[in-house]
This record gives sequence, structure tokens and C-alpha cells, in this order.
Amino acid sequence: MTSSLWHPFTQHGLCEPTPLVTHGSGAILWTEDGQRIIDGISSWWVTTHGHCHPRIMAAIAAQAQQLDQVIFAGWTHEPAETLAQGLTAIMPPSLPYVFLSDSGSTSVEVAIKMALGYWLHRGQTRHRIMVMEHSYHGDTIGAMSVGARSVYNRAYTPLLFDVGTLPFPIAGQEQATLDALEAACRSHELAALIIEPLILGAGGMLIYPAWVLAEMRAICARFGVLFIADEVMTGWGRTGTLTACEQAEIVPDLMCLSKGLTGGALPLAATMASAAIYDAHYSTDRAQQFFHSSSYTANPIACAAANANLAIWRDEPVLERIATLAAHQQTGLDSLATVPGIENPRQLGTIIAMEMATPQGQDQGYLSHLAPRLLAHFREQGLLLRPMGNTVYVMPPYSIEAADLDRLHHAIAEAVISLAI
Ligand SMILES: *Cc1c(COP(=O)(O)O)cnc(C)c1O
Repeated sequence: MTSSLWHPFTQHGLCEPTPLVTHGSGAILWTEDGQRIIDGISSWWVTTHGHCHPRIMAAIAAQAQQLDQVIFAGWTHEPAETLAQGLTAIMPPSLPYVFLSDSGSTSVEVAIKMALGYWLHRGQTRHRIMVMEHSYHGDTIGAMSVGARSVYNRAYTPLLFDVGTLPFPIAGQEQATLDALEAACRSHELAALIIEPLILGAGGMLIYPAWVLAEMRAICARFGVLFIADEVMTGWGRTGTLTACEQAEIVPDLMCLSKGLTGGALPLAATMASAAIYDAHYSTDRAQQFFHSSSYTANPIACAAANANLAIWRDEPVLERIATLAAHQQTGLDSLATVPGIENPRQLGTIIAMEMATPQGQDQGYLSHLAPRLLAHFREQGLLLRPMGNTVYVMPPYSIEAADLDRLHHAIAEAVISLAI
């Protein structure tokens, strides 16, 4: 398609094909020319139960007959009230407050602003935020500031605010990360640490153990530093449990949720906050209220979609489905691991990832020349996979058919041969 549309993360100068998708169901998307596409990345990590899940679609249709949108400052509505009850019932009790917004990036901006507000209202000047190397928290200026500096944000780097960075806890050197965090807590009045729990997504599907996450949380607690868990990708079963924090048996002070919150059907996000953070903003002084809103905060139709997602989690064996999928993915990964040219095979829940070998380790990273060739190879076979540089990963909707999952795994093995990696 040629059009006036400017697509995200797309170099239009390369004139790559942009297939037009007409409909979707389960893990399958259909294009206008009738091609059947297997969605191996859950349409950028959002689709959990499958495309056009009947219960979510029905909830959207029903809500659309009732109320489309209403200002959320000073007004409320049933879908949002139900959502707050549903979220607080399923998430840890020590996160009793729910702030709704529109995207993962916004949920992160909200968390950062809540953390800074907390310190201001407690009369302490704490602004500095710690982050982890290779982390990604979104594409708005604040979210980019707490993410890795890279080709993604080179043009904006001078405007991004300064943060402290912990080394990624690579296997065998986890203590260095913990020591760096403790040293930072001792030498600075840190406001918060923001973390992608257990797996760094856009940074290359980098996995680290639950005990490191638990230790980081413990260090923050010891120094009174707020702990922000960005569960935007990891939430809603992606890592095998409802949230990734669960696997480390920790509860953060602030938790960001988005992507799978509506099952991937509509944009919506939630920042869940502890009572201490809410209480710091609670006052008769209007200057102390939380100053954040977007036009569509708590959009009723998006909330209805999220309520349908929560109902699916309550009524259906979602975690069992995820366990079955993950076991199948593990079998696929085990055989991929034997293919020469495939390196660092790894898995967390419903995510598998690996690197394609490059000559002497060159040509790696997001701009690797391998990425567009891999993308074309997969596209030709009707597979939606979108490698990040020479990192290939599969993160399917939970309803993917076994045969379709096998086709994804098979195509990765084949890519190594046909692209002479
Ligand atoms: C995708 C993602 C975001 C940003 O979410 P958007 O909805 O794209 O703004 C933030 N954090 C993490 C960990 C993500 O994976």
C-alpha cells in the first residue's frame, strides 16, 4: 500500500511491502489478498487470548450502545468501577489504588510522576531514578529517559533526563548488579528504581533470575527507595504467571500494566499504587493532588474490554493454557537449540528467544543487516515474526494452534539454512 500514513519503526525509504490486514481470529490474521498469517508476536506483545476473542468483542459492542466516553475528573462510570474492583481483587492487596491511562508509556510516566510527587509531598527532595542497562519503558520523553540510550533515541538524548544505570545481571555476575544498586542507594537520595521484572523485552529478550529481582526489591525497601515494576509486557500471563513479580514473591510500590490488560483489543493502561503513595497525595490542599490526565482516561469501552479480559481470567483455565503452550514452546526450543547458527536459546513462560550467529559477532544490534532479511523470509511464508537485530523471538497468543506453533519454530530453523547464517 502506498498512502500518506507514516508507520512506526518503519524506514519508508526502503519501500518494504506493507500488507493490508482485513480480519483476525485466534493467532491468525488475514490479508486482503487472502493470505493466512500466523501472528507469532501477538501483534507487538498485546494479544493474549487471541484476536477478536468473542467475549471481549461482545463486551465492546455492548458498552458501545451505552456510553462511549465521559470526562473522568470528577465523574465516574460503571466499567471503570468494575475494573478497579477486578484489578484490586486479582493483584496484590498492597496495591489498592488504580490510575487509568492509555498506553504502556503513559502508565510509566504516571508511575514516575507519582514517585516524584510522593517525595515532594513528604518534604524530601528526591528526584534521581535508577534504571537497568538495556531497559525499555516506552517512547515518550520521560519513558525514554528511564530507558537505554540507543539508536532508538539518538536524536533526543540531549533532552532526556539523567538517570543512574545498573549493569544487567548477566549469569554469574548478578552480585555486581545488586552491589551497584546498594552503592547507589547509599550515595544518593534515590526517588525510585524502575525495572522490567525477569525479562527485558525491547532490550533483546534478556532474562535474569527471580532471586535477583527479589534482592533488588529488598535493597530498595531497606533504603526507602520506591520500586516501580513495569509489567507492561510481562503482565497477564506472558511469563507463565499472572505477573512476573509473582515468581519472585515480591510486591512493588507501583506497578504498570497495559498491553494484555484488554486482552490486546483496545489501548488502556493502569498504574497500581500503594496506599503510602496515594496517601502522600491525599489532602485538603488542591495543590497536592495528582496532576495527570489524558483526554481518554478510563474510556468506558476500553474498560469494558478489560473487564471482559478479567472475566476470562476468572472463568477460564488461562494459566493451564499458558502452561501447555509453554511446554510446547520448550520442545520447539530444544530442537532449535541443536541447529548450528542458533545461539543463546532461552525461554520464560510463553516467550522463546535466541540469537542468530553473525560472523565474529559482528553485525549485531537493532540495525543488523540480518533483521530485514529475516523479516522478508518470515513474511514470504505467511509468518508474523519481527526479529530485533539478530535476536529472533516468538511470543504467540495463548490460543495458537499446535501446528501453527510448529510452523513458526520450523521457519526459524529453516531461516538459518536458507539465509546461510
Ligand atoms: C511496550 C512496553 C512499554 C510501552 O508501552 P506502549 O503501550 O507501547 O506505550 C513500556 N514498557 C514495557 C516493558 C514495554 O514492553
